[in-house]
Amino acid sequence: MKTLWKGYINASLILKITIALILGIIVGLIFGKEAAVLSPLGDLLIHLLSFLIIPLVLLTLIVGVNQTKLSHLGRMGGKIFIYYILTSAFAIIVGLVVASILHPGSGMSYSSHQGFNVPKNPGVISVMLNIIPSNIISAFSELNMLGIIFTALVFGIAISYLRSSEEHGELGEHVYKVVEGLNEATLTIMKAILQFVPIGIFAIMAKTVGNQGLDTLLSLGKMITVLYVALIVQIVVYSVLMVLTKVKPGRFFAQARTPMLTAFVTQSSSGTLPLTLNAAKNLGIPKSLYGFSLPLGSTINMDGAAIRIAVSAVFAANITGTHLGFTNMMEIVLIGTLASIGTAGVPGAGIIMIATVFAQIGLPMETVGLLTAIDALVGMGCTALNVTGDLVGTAIIGRKETKVEGHALQ
Ligand code: ASP
Repeated sequence: MKTLWKGYINASLILKITIALILGIIVGLIFGKEAAVLSPLGDLLIHLLSFLIIPLVLLTLIVGVNQTKLSHLGRMGGKIFIYYILTSAFAIIVGLVVASILHPGSGMSYSSHQGFNVPKNPGVISVMLNIIPSNIISAFSELNMLGIIFTALVFGIAISYLRSSEEHGELGEHVYKVVEGLNEATLTIMKAILQFVPIGIFAIMAKTVGNQGLDTLLSLGKMITVLYVALIVQIVVYSVLMVLTKVKPGRFFAQARTPMLTAFVTQSSSGTLPLTLNAAKNLGIPKSLYGFSLPLGSTINMDGAAIRIAVSAVFAANITGTHLGFTNMMEIVLIGTLASIGTAGVPGAGIIMIATVFAQIGLPMETVGLLTAIDALVGMGCTALNVTGDLVGTAIIGRKETKVEGHALQ
């Protein structure tokens, strides 16, 4: 028993995750809906990962801010923000082009009883105001990521100011050491949690596969295939971007695959954040960058969700016989980019945004009902891409920054 446990602990994480994923699929296929008895193990993984999100984001960012100059931080922040917006818009174009070539939903028609209620959109102003939390505790308890980033930035800057001041230099240094120590402690907890990731993944996968009816899969198979083709095209786009900016894709994906697979199974960019941060650390990206860019990316950079909006729009147009002209396509790029920014990093968020976009551009809402049938399967791939996009942007900007600082990210 002891040797078995030791063997498990020492085996490579990615190998364990891959085996868990395959076993999960097999168990789901064999036991169908009964595989749901494994749910508590999957929920436990989500709890363990969510448990670490706040301390990790807060402490990593405070330490990161203290490891760099403020002007440097501002420059990196600007670059990553622009990168996120441009790649999201590009992802929509990729989705539109792939879907226009492969025609998802052609030859199908929809039955109008599958309705869908359009959810309320929070509105830009309230989202902007929420960046500054009126109450730190509620920002944390609601996992308001932008609010948490704001809090960490402000405290990080204040501590860095204390450290450089004549009057409070020593005090600032003490506070920083405490934060640094807590950050290390959080990373130690995370190493322990990593051992549970394969078990949780097995359980979630078995439940998801068991829940997904085979007939829906078959009838909407083309839509699913087109979406995954578009996601793969975007991965190729990332690889080209990395080659152009001298980030080695092989080395990148060796680290990125753990968060990619975890995001795939859990369907949550936020939940995967601890593993994404870990991958960035292993890639040698400066903490001052990834401590900020990854939490931000898990909230606003959703390239997978963007692709899904585009492919879904073409699908809905095809099954209802609506023609999408150039102007409609531009509208989808614009509204879709904004909607992808507004998509939360939690399971099921993407389909809500699709309903919002359809309402804006006048596509029939009934088709969203059809798309919910494949929500989990499609959401898995999109979430994996959402997380990959954050990490690619961070690696690319990090490569430039490390060059500036004289380190190497190769
Ligand atoms: N579940 C996705 C995420 O966490 C969002 C989406 O549904 O597209 O990134």
